[in-house]
Amino acid sequence: MNTFPLFFKFTNQPVLIVGGGEVAQRKADLLSRTGANITIVAPQISDSIRHLLSDSKHTLIAEQYDKQYLAGKRIVIAGTDDEMLNHQVHADCQALNIPVNVVDTPPLCDFIFPAIVDRSPIVIGISSNGKAPVLARLTRARLEALIPQGYGKLAKLAGDMRDEVKSKIPTLTGRRQFWEKAFEGKVSELMFAGRESEAEQALKQDLEATHNRLSNLDAAKSAESNKLGNVGEVYIVGAGPGDPELLTFKALRLMQQADIVYYDALVSAEVLDLCRRDADKVFVGKKRSNHAVAQQNINQMMIDAANTGKRVVRLKGGDPFVFGRGGEEIQALRAANIPYQVVPGITAAGAAACYTGIPLTHRDYAQSVRFVTGFLKSGEPNTGFAALTNPKETLVFYMGLHSLGRLTAGLIEAGRDPNTPIAIVSHASLPTQQTMTGSLQDIAKKHEDSPLPTPALLIVGDVAKLHDELAWYGEPIINSGQQAHALTMV
Ligand code: SAH
Repeated sequence: MNTFPLFFKFTNQPVLIVGGGEVAQRKADLLSRTGANITIVAPQISDSIRHLLSDSKHTLIAEQYDKQYLAGKRIVIAGTDDEMLNHQVHADCQALNIPVNVVDTPPLCDFIFPAIVDRSPIVIGISSNGKAPVLARLTRARLEALIPQGYGKLAKLAGDMRDEVKSKIPTLTGRRQFWEKAFEGKVSELMFAGRESEAEQALKQDLEATHNRLSNLDAAKSAESNKLGNVGEVYIVGAGPGDPELLTFKALRLMQQADIVYYDALVSAEVLDLCRRDADKVFVGKKRSNHAVAQQNINQMMIDAANTGKRVVRLKGGDPFVFGRGGEEIQALRAANIPYQVVPGITAAGAAACYTGIPLTHRDYAQSVRFVTGFLKSGEPNTGFAALTNPKETLVFYMGLHSLGRLTAGLIEAGRDPNTPIAIVSHASLPTQQTMTGSLQDIAKKHEDSPLPTPALLIVGDVAKLHDELAWYGEPIINSGQQAHALTMV
C-alpha cells in the first residue's frame, strides 16, 4: 500500500483551494459536501464557483496566491493552470507541514482524492494511487451497481438504534448475531425494497424478542444458556488452489465474518488477505514429521476458540474433503458439540486441469478419473498400483511429486503402457504455474534434470497430451524439446 485510506472529518474545518477554474470547482464541490469551510484564492473565478461561494461559510480571496493564506489550514489543494505556481504552493505547504494535493500531479500529492461510492453513512473510497484513475472509476461503477442504494438507509437505521441495542443485548456476541440477522435477513430486504418504516418496525420487533428471550431466563438457566449462546461456530472452508478468484461467494462471506482464521501452508497470501481485517490469523501448516500431534492441536485450538464464542474459519487449500483431513476435523468438532459448516473449494485437480488445458475426461481418451494420494496415513508410500492400470482412466496424484520415479515405475510394472502421457502441474492457477509433459518412462529423468517446485500434481493418461493443443494460461510449455509459449489470450 503506497497510501493509507483514512476518512477525514472536515465539518467546519478550514480548507484552502488555490485556483478558480473548473478543476478547483470540482474539488470545492466535493469538499463542501463534507461541511468544510472553503477558502478560494484566485484573482478570477468561474460562475459555478461564485454560486458555491454564495454560502456564507465559504470565503473568496480575489487576489494572487500568497503563502500567508496557508495559515491554519487543514489541507490545501492547488488546481491552477500555472505549473510554477502549483509547485510554489506545494513547496510552501511542505515547509509548513500542511498536507497538499496538486491536482492531477501525483508526485506533488500528499493525499489523493479517491473515486467515491456514497451510501452515506457508508462511504467507499477507491484509489489506484495515481496509476490508473480510469480503472479506479470503473471499479467504482461496478461497486455502484453491486451495492444496493438502501445500504445507506440501513446503516443510518442501525446507527439510530445502536444505543438501544447495546442496552438490551448485553453481550458482544449477542449484538453481533443480532446485527448480522438484521443485515442479511428480513430487515435489509424490506429496506432495499424501499419499505423503510416496515424495516424499522421489523428491527424493533426483533430487538424486543431478543431482549425478552434473554431476560426471561432464570438465573440457573441463564448461566446454562449463556454458555450455549456463547458457543461460536467453525467453518471449514475450501480456499481453492491459490487464485483468489476461484473462491466461492460463500467462502468469501464466511471469511469476512471470521474472528479467527487457522490456515494451511497451501493457502495463498492473496486469499488470506480476503479474510476479515480484524480477524486473528494463525498459521497451522503441518510438518511432515509430526502430523498426528499437529492435527490434534489444530482440532483443540478450533474447539477452544469456538467455546469462547468465536467464529472460527478453518481455511484449507483446495477442497476440505479431498485429501484435506476435513472429515477428521469434523469428527473432533462433533465430539465436542461444536456447530460447523463445510464449504467446498476447487480442488487442485480441477484447477490444474482447467489451467493447463488437460480435460480430466474426454470421450476419446478417458471415461473415468481417479484422485490418488502418493502417501498413506502412516507416511508410507501408496503402492496400490494394481487398481490403476485402466488405459481409459485418468489418474491424478496428489502429494506425488517427491515419489515421481517410484510412482511411474510402479504403474509401468503393474501394466500401464510406458508411453502413457503424463503432466506435472506445479503451482496450478498461480502466476508461477509451470507444466512439464512427458511419458511414464521418461518423465522422472526429465524432472530430475529441471525440477519443478511443489505443490504439484501429476496427471496421468492420454488426456495429458491435449496440453500441447489446449493450453491457454500464460506459461512456457516445457516438453519434449519443444519450447513454445502458450499465451493465446491478451
Ligand atoms: N485439499 C487439497 C489437497 C491437499 S493435499 C485440494 O483439494 O486441492 C496437498 C497436495 O495437493 C499437494 O501435495 C499437491 O499435490 C496438491 N496441490 C495443492 N495445491 C496445488 C496447486 N496449486 N498446484 C498443484 N498442486 C496442488
